[in-house]
Amino acid sequence: MRHRVTTLADVERCIRVTDDEREGIRRTEGVFQWSITPYYASLMDADDPACPVRRQVVPLASELAPDIVGVEDPLEEVAHSPVKNLIHNYRDRVAFCVTSQCAIYCRYCLRKRMVGEASFMMRRGELEEALDYIRAHTEVRDVLLTGGDPLTLGERHLDWLLGSLKQIEHVDIVRIGTRMPVKLPQRITPELCEVLERNGPVWVNTHFNHAKELTPRAREAVLALLKAGVPVGNQTVLLAGINDSLDALRELLEGLVRARVRPYYLYQAQVIGGTAHFRTPIEVGMDLMARLQGRITGFAMPVYVLDTPFGKIPLNRTYVLGRCGDFVIMRSTRGRVWAEPNPRPPEAVAARLVEEAVLPEIAWPDGAETISVRSGAEVGA
Ligand SMILES: *Cc1c(COP(=O)(O)O)cnc(C)c1O
Ligand code: SF4
Repeated sequence: MRHRVTTLADVERCIRVTDDEREGIRRTEGVFQWSITPYYASLMDADDPACPVRRQVVPLASELAPDIVGVEDPLEEVAHSPVKNLIHNYRDRVAFCVTSQCAIYCRYCLRKRMVGEASFMMRRGELEEALDYIRAHTEVRDVLLTGGDPLTLGERHLDWLLGSLKQIEHVDIVRIGTRMPVKLPQRITPELCEVLERNGPVWVNTHFNHAKELTPRAREAVLALLKAGVPVGNQTVLLAGINDSLDALRELLEGLVRARVRPYYLYQAQVIGGTAHFRTPIEVGMDLMARLQGRITGFAMPVYVLDTPFGKIPLNRTYVLGRCGDFVIMRSTRGRVWAEPNPRPPEAVAARLVEEAVLPEIAWPDGAETISVRSGAEVGA
């Protein structure tokens, strides 16, 4: 952590920095967090700016594009937080942001405005308050520790937190969302595994986005978790130019199961400021899923979802009604109609997607009061 790449001079020692990257590093300073672990930096291709590892962590000028449609809090997490950093949006489970720190700061991060921020940090008293809330809410049986990255906390701190949750009778399982096996596999130490094993059942969901990240060192970290009785799942974000092709996704998913990691969710990238250049058209994602279905091991298939203030919506034709201009219209599992601003597919593939009826063009649905539009987005004419 102390040896992280955090300056232009540092990164120039790792890669041949392009003008676009140099401008990105300069202009995002003080706006978005930026840092790369030496391990993750070692996976970057020094000569290829399109390298899928490099694209995830080196800022580009497009992060500050003036036309970004973006919001700071796309899931209205603040509104769903009864106490600081505890999001209670599903009846039986909560997401608990226990820290704002990460080992690397991914350029597409859903909590891009919050990660690394002092105001998003949790003091001991604030953690206690969140634990009190969980104690008082007997319907909560599943606690998801997230952040930031919970594994930036030290063993003693984690032991206290997990131990406190274990003592709450109605909490059946604790899950940890962490990118450590991907960006700093050295963090999965025997001491950490011992803490997780002792306080189990603890599940880990990690976050590989590309087969290139499945190194021997990363696989070793996964195996250490598995040996400590921690099941390991994976969440991937569908990212333009990084993993939005059939080959990239297939290699990733097959590589994950080879590493004994169970693919869980494939996320549609959120509408959040500074990430527009990563967003893919939803019908392209749906088409990729359709082309993978039946062609890879069943349990290598993730569920393609969009997270909304009404919960996660599976992006398949049961829920997705169609495209209306620059929006994709879908029904949430709670019966609300949701309109997501989303880029249209490029001309070259649009015709095929329409012909194969991946997603129909539809009119704006009636009953506007039942429709929620992602705030911060402008509704077209
Ligand atoms: C994603 C999420 C969860 C966990 O949902 P699962 O579908 O069970 O993985 C819980 N709380 C919030 C707020 C979430 O966004
Ligand atoms: S590790 Fe997760 S929380 Fe941290 S910056 Fe990356 S995506 Fe965001």
